Amino acid sequence: MKIKMTLTDSPKQKPDEADLKFGKNFTDHMFVMDYTEGRGWHDPEIKPYAPLTLDPSAMVLHYGQAVFEGLKCYRADDGRLLLFRPEMNFKRLNASDERLCIPYIDEETALRGLNELLITDKEWVPSAEGTTLYIRPFVIATEPALGVHISSKYSFIIILNPVGAYYPEGLKPTKILIEDEYVRAVKGGVGFAKASGNYAASLKGQQKAQRQGFTQTMWLDGVHRRFIEEVGTSNVFFKIAGEIITPALSGSILPGITRDSSIRLLKSWGLKVTECAFSVDELADAFEKGTLEESFATGTATCVSPIGEFSWNGKKIIAGDGGIGEISKRLFDTLTGIQYGRLEDEFGWVKEVK
Ligand SMILES: *Cc1c(COP(=O)(O)O)cnc(C)c1O
Repeated sequence: MKIKMTLTDSPKQKPDEADLKFGKNFTDHMFVMDYTEGRGWHDPEIKPYAPLTLDPSAMVLHYGQAVFEGLKCYRADDGRLLLFRPEMNFKRLNASDERLCIPYIDEETALRGLNELLITDKEWVPSAEGTTLYIRPFVIATEPALGVHISSKYSFIIILNPVGAYYPEGLKPTKILIEDEYVRAVKGGVGFAKASGNYAASLKGQQKAQRQGFTQTMWLDGVHRRFIEEVGTSNVFFKIAGEIITPALSGSILPGITRDSSIRLLKSWGLKVTECAFSVDELADAFEKGTLEESFATGTATCVSPIGEFSWNGKKIIAGDGGIGEISKRLFDTLTGIQYGRLEDEFGWVKEVK
C-alpha cells in the first residue's frame, strides 16, 4: 500500500526543549489509515495534525472499543533517530485488537507508516539530555451506530509528542499505596490489552492514592485481593534475598516491553529472576525479615522507576533503605544507554529510523 503524503502549509512553532511536558504538544503531522468492512485497511496517509471529524454516534464514544500503544523515538548523540523494539508494540497492538474484536493491522504497514511519519517530523525529535519523542498509535471504532455490536469501521492513527526528561533532577524513589478496594483488571477481562477502558477504570484508585500523598497505586488481583499485579501503568519488580521477583503474566497484567527487556538484561547479568504469583503478605513478610532489598516499576514512560516504600493497611513497607536501589539504577542506565545508542545493543533491540 502506498502512503499518501499531504504536508502542512502552516508548520507550528516548536516548544522550548527545556520545558517539554508529557502529552501536551503534538507535531505537525499524523498517520491515519481507515478500515471498512469488505475493503479492509485502506488509504494510509500522512497528513497535517488536526482534530478528527467523528459522527456523534461513532461507536468508540459510547462503547469504548479502542486500544492504544506507547513507544518512544530517541535522538542519539550523532543525530540518528532510534526506536526501541517497535515491532513488539505493533505485535501487542494486534493482541489488544484481537481481544477487542478490532481487525488485524499489518505490522509491516504500521511500522512503515511510523517510519515515514518520523522522517516527516524528524525536526521535532528533541536533542536535550533525556528528552524523547513519545509515539502514540491508537485504534478507534468509527461506525456511526448505537447498539452494542462489533464496529464495521475503524481508524488507526499515530500521533507524536515531544517530551522532556522524565527525571529532570535524577531518579527519585516513589511512595506507593497498595489498593485494597478497587481493582484494575480480572482474568478473562481485558487487563492484558492496552484497552482504553482499563485506564478509565483505574482513575479512581489513582485519585485516592494521590489524595493521600502517594505517587501511585499498586493493584492487587481481583479475585483473592492478595496477589500483586502492577503499579499504576507499570510492571513491578522486587529484589528479595538476592532474587528478583516479578508477577507472572496471568491474563490481567499488561505484558510490558520494558518488563521483558528488564528480565532479559537481569538474567544476562547472572541474576536469578522468578516470574510467579507473589502476594502482598509475602512482600510484608520479606520486609519484616529484612530481606526486601529493592523494588522498582518498569514502563516506556519512566523506563525504570525506583520504589522507596509501600503502604498496606496503614503500615509502611520500606524497600531497602527507601532510596534508589543498585539494580534499579543499573537497569535504568543500561536501558537508556541502549535506547540512546550509547551502549552496545547486544540483543538487537534498536531500530534506526531512515
Ligand atoms: C503500557 C503499560 C505497561 C508498560 O508497558 P511498556 O511496554 O513497558 O511500556 C505496564 N502496565 C500497564 C497497565 C500499561 O498500560
